[in-house]
Amino acid sequence: MPEGKRPLPQPTPETRHFWEGTQAGELRLQRCNTCQKAYFPPRPFCPACGQREVSMFKASGKARLFSYVIHHRPVAGFDPPYAIAVVELDEGPRMMSNIVDCPQTPEALVLDMPLEVAFEKQTDEITLPLFRPAKG
Ligand SMILES: [Zn+2]
Repeated sequence: MPEGKRPLPQPTPETRHFWEGTQAGELRLQRCNTCQKAYFPPRPFCPACGQREVSMFKASGKARLFSYVIHHRPVAGFDPPYAIAVVELDEGPRMMSNIVDCPQTPEALVLDMPLEVAFEKQTDEITLPLFRPAKG
């Protein structure tokens, strides 16, 4: 286990549904009722058109590796080297995450590789959505 604790997000009223979702094993996104765009991170209005009528839905958990950087310095809660990745969800939004079950090397981390969400419980309140190479 890595030394120290990684910094964890603090749920807010706007993000609580997201963190309740990850605890339940669901990746919950929001979608605008007007323009139908899915978005992340959570907010009470559509970032594309500004409408406040938005709905929550359960995402597929499927994504592709959009970009990443490999860090070689130790940071609390991580064993270097580790990749900080941006994944693009099948529904469209991008999120920062880590890629697990995979060597943290440029040879293994291929851009556009298919990924699937993997939930990792950190505390009673926070379960992080990480991503691993999709099976099959
Ligand atoms: Zn909209």
